[in-house]
Amino acid sequence: MAVVQEKELLCKDFLAKPKKLLIDGKFVDAVSGKTFETINPATEEVLAKVPEGGKEDVDKAVKAARRALDGPWGKMATNERARLIYKLAELIEKHADELAQLETLDNGKPITESRYVDVAQTAETYRYYAGWATKLEGETINANSNFFTYTLREPVGVVGQIIPWNFPMLMQAWKWGPALACGNTVVLKPAEQTPLTALRIGELAMEAGFPDGVVNIITGFGPDSAGEAISNHMDIDKVAFTGEEATGRIIVKASAGNLKRVSLELGGKAPNIVFADADIDAAVKGAITGIFFNQGQVCCAGSRLFLEKSIHDEFMSKLTDRIAKMRQGHGLDEGTQIGPQVSKEQQQRILSYIDIAKKEGASLACGGAAPSEHKKGYFVQPTVFTGVNNDMRIAKEEVFGPVLAVIPFTGMDEVAEAANKTTFGLSGAVWTRDVKKAHKFAARIKAGTIWVNCYNVFDPAVPFGGYKMSGYGRELGKHSIELYSNIKSVWMNLMD
Ligand code: NAP
Ligand code: MG
Repeated sequence: MAVVQEKELLCKDFLAKPKKLLIDGKFVDAVSGKTFETINPATEEVLAKVPEGGKEDVDKAVKAARRALDGPWGKMATNERARLIYKLAELIEKHADELAQLETLDNGKPITESRYVDVAQTAETYRYYAGWATKLEGETINANSNFFTYTLREPVGVVGQIIPWNFPMLMQAWKWGPALACGNTVVLKPAEQTPLTALRIGELAMEAGFPDGVVNIITGFGPDSAGEAISNHMDIDKVAFTGEEATGRIIVKASAGNLKRVSLELGGKAPNIVFADADIDAAVKGAITGIFFNQGQVCCAGSRLFLEKSIHDEFMSKLTDRIAKMRQGHGLDEGTQIGPQVSKEQQQRILSYIDIAKKEGASLACGGAAPSEHKKGYFVQPTVFTGVNNDMRIAKEEVFGPVLAVIPFTGMDEVAEAANKTTFGLSGAVWTRDVKKAHKFAARIKAGTIWVNCYNVFDPAVPFGGYKMSGYGRELGKHSIELYSNIKSVWMNLMD
């Protein structure tokens, strides 16, 4: 099917109108009046100009968020809070196709993924957390009969949230859903590459009826700008961050001023381990989903594929056959399976990793370049290297692109050790028909999520987060409620 023409774009009205920050329920320009451009990575054309928010805008947003917390939002009954979050989910579904187009235009991802993963999961996440708003409870504790002792679960307060460009709308939902369910107010900074869906969801939140100041959105940059102003703000009680490990460290340091709570979702270098007794065809499909979903721009991407030697050649031939049939193109084309990378900077970074892998002696099995058929757009061919060892840079560092490193192995202990020989620990997968082996490996791999005979499966009810340098805190499920609430113990003296 041909790429959707501009006149058919459901998001064309939103694209055409001036973009504003959302502060205190109003759409406003940045105090500085500055703007920056967001680019369509499939065409390299400017999609829109958005305000470049900075410290003063963050200050205004924090004041508004504090007022809302101390005012209408803090006093609202939890079933009303739940109703508002639920209403937001409904509005997202009502505008699903428009939001999917907007996400694809800004990020580049295939429209089928935007529609059936990003938008669908975004709505599900809000709906899931709407349910939690009415189920937050304290406890009574029989510690000492001279006292009546109970706990209250309270919001943390004003929460700053800084998100990346790979799943813009979904990361916003992972952050807003639990924060709002727990009664916090938020100041969100979307990534500079993908600010558009955040602003559109801000409009939908206003339409849903959230009181002014509950949700604030500051588009802009990270260092010396809005991101930094959030992370070192003295009146923000918590910061939640998803992004690069190096940025995570900066955020932690910046948080020290008022010792705000921090939760971090950082990078990964996930092992995807295929044993000879696995369903090979299923594992081949899983390897493809593991590394090429979202152009490989996934923190939990299965970027290290460990193949048991006895099946290595059969697996590789099936894998490269399937990759040869993958359709790469403009994300709005319904037939596209792999789109462009989010930006020129990312494309160039990935191509430089491909060079490094060649220089370090890995063998190129397929891909390895920007495809020549696309004159415009930040494309990188789906790329596989064989003969990789765990000490090469493509096996150690996060490439964040469609580049798979294949590492052969012979024994269980060997692969377990190699799988864990990484500074990251976000996820991993095991393919085997042997139930014992599966359970043993699920326990042995040091990572926050293990998939057995599947890859990249998610649900808002199932926690997600990292071991080691992949961050701390768990998002999703009831665990995110812990991130966004405070426990207060109350002692009532009963003594005469
Ligand atoms: P990034 O550069 O760390 O950016 C993430 C966000 O942080 C952006 O909004 C960015 O602003 C902001 N930022 C940058 N420097 C900052 C600073 N000094 N202070 C405050 N904020 C700052 O990461 P990215 O390149 O967008 O995303 C790719 C990385 O994220 C990968 O390493 C990937 O593994 C990781 N990731 C992890 C998860 C997870 O769940 N664990 C999910 C997605 C991505 P700008 O808009 O100016 O860039
Ligand atoms: Mg963009």
